[in-house]
Amino acid sequence: QAKLKGGAQYQVFSQQIAEYLLEKEVIERALTTALEQDEFELFFQPYVCSKTGLIAGAEALLRWQSDSLGRVGPDKFIPVAEQSGLIYAIDRWVIEHACRSLAEILKTQQNSTFSMSVNVSNTHLQQPGLADFISGVVSAMALPPKQVEIEITETATADLDDRFLANANALKKLGVGLVLDDFGTGYTSLAHLGQLPVTKLKLDRTHTAEIGLKQPADTPGVAKIVLEFAHAYNLSVTAEGVENQQQLDFLNSEKCDFIQGYYLYKPMSFKQLLELLSGKG
Ligand code: C2E
Ligand code: MG
Ligand code: MG
Ligand code: MG
Repeated sequence: QAKLKGGAQYQVFSQQIAEYLLEKEVIERALTTALEQDEFELFFQPYVCSKTGLIAGAEALLRWQSDSLGRVGPDKFIPVAEQSGLIYAIDRWVIEHACRSLAEILKTQQNSTFSMSVNVSNTHLQQPGLADFISGVVSAMALPPKQVEIEITETATADLDDRFLANANALKKLGVGLVLDDFGTGYTSLAHLGQLPVTKLKLDRTHTAEIGLKQPADTPGVAKIVLEFAHAYNLSVTAEGVENQQQLDFLNSEKCDFIQGYYLYKPMSFKQLLELLSGKG
C-alpha cells in the first residue's frame, strides 16, 4: 500500500518536473526572438526621498509581451534568460533603453538630480566588459554617471570573484552607483560588504512587510537592524515594497533614505512617468 502510494506521488512529481522543463523550453524558445520582434518594454517605478517627499528617481522594470505566450513576468523569464545566456543581450537592451529614458527626462528637467536604477543580472557582473559597456552608454548619452545606478541582488556577493570585483570597481571609478537589491534575503557577510564598492542597500520587501507585525521575543525586526547597520557604514537605504502608512511612518522614523512601493507608486509606462514628472500625472 505504502509502496503504491509512493509510486503515485513519484508520478505526480515527475509530471511536475516534466511540465516545468517544458515550460522552460517554451519560454526559452519564445525569448530567443523577443528582442528582434521588439516584445520588450520598460516600466518605471518611482522612488521618493523621505526627507523631501519628492521623487528622487525610478527603477526600470522589464515587461515582456510575448507574441506566442502573452504577458510573462520577469520572475518567470529572467531565470530562463540567465540559464540560457540570453540575459546578456537582454540586460544590454535594458541598460541602453533605461539610459535613453533618463536622457529624455533630463532634457526636459534641467538640473534635475533624478536617478535611473537598472537591474542587471548577477551572472552579468562576472562578465568582463560589462562596466565598459555601461561606460560607453553613459558617455554616448552624456549622462551624469552618478544619476545611473546598477542594482544587483544580494546573492551575487556570495561568490565574489575577481571579475565581479573588477566590474564593481570600474563602475565606482566611473561614478555609477551600485545597489544591493533584495538586501536581507541573501547572506552577505560584513567582510564581503566592506570589499564591495556599494553605494546603497535596498531592503527586501519581505522585511518591509514585517514592519508592525509582532516580532519573536521582542526582537527589533530586520528592517531596523538593516537601517542602523547601513547608516553606520554611511550607506543609504531604499525600502522596497512599501504598501501602507504604518510601514511608511516606521521607515521615516528610522530615517530610511528612500521609499518605494505600491503605496506611493506602481510601475508605470514611460509616458505615464513623464506626465507624473511634469506635474500632469
Ligand atoms: P526587484 O528588482 O526587486 O524589483 C521589485 C519588484 O517588486 C518588481 O517586480 C516590482 O513591480 C515589485 N514591487 C514594487 N513595489 C511593490 C509593492 O509595494 N508590493 C509588492 N508586492 N511588489 C512590489 P517585477 O517588475 O515583477 O520584477 C521582479 C524581479 O525581476 C525584479 O525584482 C528583478 O530582480 C527582476 N527584473 C525586473 N526587471 C529586470 C531587468 O530589466 N533586468 C534584470 N536582470 N532583472 C529584472
Ligand atoms: Mg531591483
Ligand atoms: Mg528588489
Ligand atoms: Mg526582488
